[in-house]
Amino acid sequence: MLESEAIDVEKLRADFPILRRTVHGKRLVYLDNAATTQKPKAVIDSLVDFYSSHNSNVHRSVHALGEEATEAYESSRKKAAEFVGARPRDLVFVRGTTEATNLVRYAWGEKSVKKGDVILTTTMEHHSNIVPWQLLARRNGAVVKYVGLNPDGTLDLGNFEDLLKEAPRLVAFTHCSNVLGTINDVAKLCSKARSAGATTLVDGAQAVPHMPVDVKAVGSDFYAYSGHKMLGPTGIGALVARGGLLEEMDPFQAGGEMIREVYDDHSTWNDVPYKFEAGTVNIADAVGLGAAVRYLESIGMERVRGHEIKLLDYAIKELTAVKGFTLYGPEDTSVRAGVVSFNYADVHPHDLATILDEEGVAIRSGHHCAQPLMRWLDVPATSRASFHVYNSYDDIDALKRAIQRAGEIFKV
Ligand code: PLP
Repeated sequence: MLESEAIDVEKLRADFPILRRTVHGKRLVYLDNAATTQKPKAVIDSLVDFYSSHNSNVHRSVHALGEEATEAYESSRKKAAEFVGARPRDLVFVRGTTEATNLVRYAWGEKSVKKGDVILTTTMEHHSNIVPWQLLARRNGAVVKYVGLNPDGTLDLGNFEDLLKEAPRLVAFTHCSNVLGTINDVAKLCSKARSAGATTLVDGAQAVPHMPVDVKAVGSDFYAYSGHKMLGPTGIGALVARGGLLEEMDPFQAGGEMIREVYDDHSTWNDVPYKFEAGTVNIADAVGLGAAVRYLESIGMERVRGHEIKLLDYAIKELTAVKGFTLYGPEDTSVRAGVVSFNYADVHPHDLATILDEEGVAIRSGHHCAQPLMRWLDVPATSRASFHVYNSYDDIDALKRAIQRAGEIFKV
């Protein structure tokens, strides 16, 4: 398939068994992909196949199943790493982006962040890229500061540069906002932060599933992503570190597998990345993540991004034409991923989502784990429709019709 070829959505939808079901007697229109994506049969089958034919613990047993399970787990690590341009040894399997930031908080932060240090994050972050730093700051006597936003929901680069003058120890920011859809120029931000002497962490939870990502080009010290937002299983994700950085860090969790030798009074550590994967790991879901990567690669990430830009352009045009519709975030789709957060007149987002659900349309409503951003937007909550490869113009039409039906009910 050519990278430029349009995605045949009807054909592709057949790969996702759940999309065949109805909700309240209506066709399921799934637009809650920023929360989690649906899984293609290839991913579901990989889990069934693992448990049916290869299940065993990894890195321990010399029997055939042990070797097969280890091979499947490690080949998924290779896939997950190469998908973002990293070496397998620099990728730690974690539960998801949240566990990745917490790993960095403990294993890097406890030792590296000192009293009086500044940790810089931004107003558009998910709580998983705020709260760990607040806790780290409280424990080590550091202070968390926030880069502000421009009125269109892009990052205020002037403010970023000003705050870099305070020589932050860590600069942690998202590649792509889960509310505004804003895509940050992460390579530029990392380069400037690094010149200011900071270590960088990029939250890639909403980027890796939707666009090509190369961590070498990004130039981050840490880069995190979640498998379940990219057609993979829940409970698996990745922390990718700059080469050599994991070696310098303390362990995260302690127990089996992460050690080399254990004596009565001390222990020594396994090689990376195993030093950070204590206990029995999430083998089957790692295998499932490998299958998700293979599936996405078979489509091509440029095409995934191209498809989402088309959906976004269409959604912005159609939805902003609805009276009472307020869109948040940049309208320029070259700096926006497939996320449409909005409010509709004075209809509460939870009421709207309930009415949409009756029409078979699944969106998310609430603060989206981004309360500082809600305060900046000066709203308690928003509604959010978010796309992936299996969404079509028909889905956006269904969303628009359902919003208009809510408008009739609430007399907008
Ligand atoms: N960062 C962003 C931007 C997100 O959208 C999310 C999830 O919604 C997370 C981090 C946390 O990901 P997880 O819940 O998979 O750990």
